[in-house]
Amino acid sequence: MVLDIKENKSKSTIYVPDIATIKKVEKLSPIEKLFTIVFDDPKKQEEFSFRPGQFVELTVFGLGEAPFSIPSSPNNKKCFQLCVRDIGNVSGALHRMDAGSKIGIRGPFGKGYFPYDKMRNQNILIVAGGLGLAPVMSLIDYILEDRKNYKELNLVYGALDPESIIFKDRVKEFEKRKDIDIHLTVDNTDASWKGNVGVVTKLIPAIECVPEETFAVVCGPPVMYKFVVKELEKKNLRPENIYLSLERRMECGVGKCNHCHIGDKLACVDGPVFSLWEIRNLKEAI
Ligand SMILES: Cc1cc2nc3c(=O)[nH]c(=O)nc-3n(C[C@H](O)[C@H](O)[C@H](O)COP(=O)(O)OP(=O)(O)OC[C@H]3O[C@@H](n4cnc5c(N)ncnc54)[C@H](O)[C@@H]3O)c2cc1C
Repeated sequence: MVLDIKENKSKSTIYVPDIATIKKVEKLSPIEKLFTIVFDDPKKQEEFSFRPGQFVELTVFGLGEAPFSIPSSPNNKKCFQLCVRDIGNVSGALHRMDAGSKIGIRGPFGKGYFPYDKMRNQNILIVAGGLGLAPVMSLIDYILEDRKNYKELNLVYGALDPESIIFKDRVKEFEKRKDIDIHLTVDNTDASWKGNVGVVTKLIPAIECVPEETFAVVCGPPVMYKFVVKELEKKNLRPENIYLSLERRMECGVGKCNHCHIGDKLACVDGPVFSLWEIRNLKEAI
């Protein structure tokens, strides 16, 4: 069952984090690390459930909180993972922590998630850029764990350069599998790189898809969305079948601080995943 803020937690406790322990820290790229986390309370760990695309608020005690998407599979009940880019106060402090460190976790938050239920028996085209691969990893694993209930699965992933590719081991594993087609590209190449060079949008036209049977998922840096959406529309994908994970600066995660407005919607409670149909007329949504 997914945590419902209104039903499962009183208003006074949605702001109180649960204590958790970092069990493992892995370097994914020069600026991203993967943290494996377990709640200290075994009951909380057992009950913790989320949907692909949702996020948690992570507290570094004495410093602050920041939202992070969950890249691990919702089916893994023993722990969950966060992929964090070292960018500022909270993320920087987290990068200096080792296994055994204590942190706080609130959530999961976000009513908008990748609609894995509607995607059953459909083709899925995932377009991710940079750190945007992290939120969609949860969806990819969920689909691979229930593979027979989904049709074609295509992942288009672009990174700045070969070194910046996150989840490299997983990407290599996907390349070997027959049930996921992966299309990789980098902006800047080096001597080791034999693959595509350029932006992700260049790879989309070559992917064959039946528009009325295809769902698309997009997650990446803000600049990417408009151009990716244009390519998907050229393929005649329906706006209600195009899902975008939209990040906005936010504090509370629960609709209180009002920092994450997208038109009349809030990224934290209405999103962070929206269909193109929901947000296409909202100013500055993409
Ligand atoms: C729903 C959601 C999911 C996210 N998932 C992830 C994730 O999986 N992994 C990850 O590494 N990050 C993720 N982020 C972004 C992450 O929350 C920010 O990087 C984080 O808040 C940085 O906090 P900080 O204290 O380290 O940085 P700060 O010290 O607060 O800021 C450092 C610099 O980064 C800028 N900045 C901070 N946050 C943002 C932001 N959200 N958008 C644009 N600029 C920002 C600030 O303006 C400042 O220049 C997510 C954000 C949202 C809203």
